[in-house]
Parts: sequence; C-alpha cells; structure tokens
Amino acid sequence: MTPGGLAICVFCSSSNAVPRAYFDVAEELGAVMAARGHTLVYGGASIGLMGALARAVHRGGGRVVGVLPEPLKAREIAYEQADELVITRDLRERKAIMEERADAFVALPGGFGTLEETVEILTLKQLGLHEKPICWLDAGGYYAGLRALFERMYGEGFAHTGHAELSRFAEDVPSALAYVEGYVHREVGDKFWWR
Ligand code: AMP
Repeated sequence: MTPGGLAICVFCSSSNAVPRAYFDVAEELGAVMAARGHTLVYGGASIGLMGALARAVHRGGGRVVGVLPEPLKAREIAYEQADELVITRDLRERKAIMEERADAFVALPGGFGTLEETVEILTLKQLGLHEKPICWLDAGGYYAGLRALFERMYGEGFAHTGHAELSRFAEDVPSALAYVEGYVHREVGDKFWWR
C-alpha cells in the first residue's frame, strides 16, 4: 500500500467515442481517488476514459502512474504529465507491471482491452495467485451482460459458485471505493473443486 492510500489499478476504455456519462464516472472516480489519497496505476494513455481519469486524479492533487507499451506510445498518446510513466516492451509486460504495482483493481466501462486485462486479473485470483480486491464499476448497468454470463458459469459448473466472491460489481464510485478499501480476503473454494 502506498503511504496514506492504496495504489489502485484502473482498467478502462481508451475510446473517445463513448457517451458522456461514462466520462463523468471516470472523472468522479479520479476525483474521489485523489481526495482519499489513492494513487492511480493505469495504462498511461491520454485518450478516452483513461485520459479523463488521469487528468481528474491530477486536478484533485493525486498521483498518477502510467504504464504504456512502447509500440502504443504514439497511438494511445502517452499522458506525459504522469508522475511516473513506465514504458514497457509490450502489452504483456504492461499487465505484469500494473499487477505488481497495484493493491486493488477497478474496471470502469471499457472495450476488449479492459475486459481482457480485468478478466486476466480475475483468473489469476481464481488460481490463488493473488488476494487483491477486484471491482467492476458497473456504471449505468454497463456490465449487466457480463454479470449474467458469470451467473451462467456458476450455474452450469464452469466456475465455482464461491468464485462470485472473487470480484464485486458495484453500481457507483462510492460503493466501488468502499469495497476495495475495506476488502479482507477470504478463501472461497478451489478452482478444481469438482475433482
Ligand atoms: P479498450 O478497453 O479496448 O479501449 O482498451 C483499454 C486499454 O487496454 C488500452 O490501453 C489498450 O491498449 C489496453 N489493452 C488492450 N489489449 C490489451 C492486452 N492484451 N494486454 C494489455 N493491455 C491491453
């Protein structure tokens, strides 16, 4: 944990084309994180919700750590104002560094990249490889379809029902932050429970 707060890795959309309401949530998250002394660890881009979030953390006086792969530096337009900008060889190294540097993970609405990054963190936790909180910030019910898919996985034995506890769907910024701040890890069942 960073002094006085958590290092929270936020995965979110790199798109500028999404409805304004999602930018509002990203900005609210950034403002509240800064106010509560949390550090933002994120993908280091200045575009989309990623950029809006980082700028909001800075407006609130918070700290921003960006982790950006060299091949995407120009396309995602690096957020040069980051307090720390880590340039990685590739996407895999980016994810490894974000994972290592974070105490907690929050997924704002996003596209394939956001899903991939968050689900990877979830799969690592499912295998018992870390015990950090993971929260889907389900703004406007954006993740309703994913939530329904997860329920089907539990219902049909593709995942342990207890693994619903590995991550949390939160409907707004205060409940997402309350969850990650108050998180206490509990064992919720082995991935290979059916053996
Ligand atoms: P998206 O949700 O698709 O807008 O992507 C959000 C962020 O995830 C962007 O910074 C992408 O570069 C990043 N991203 C996409 N795919 C991957 C991946 N396989 N590993 C790591 N980061 C990724």
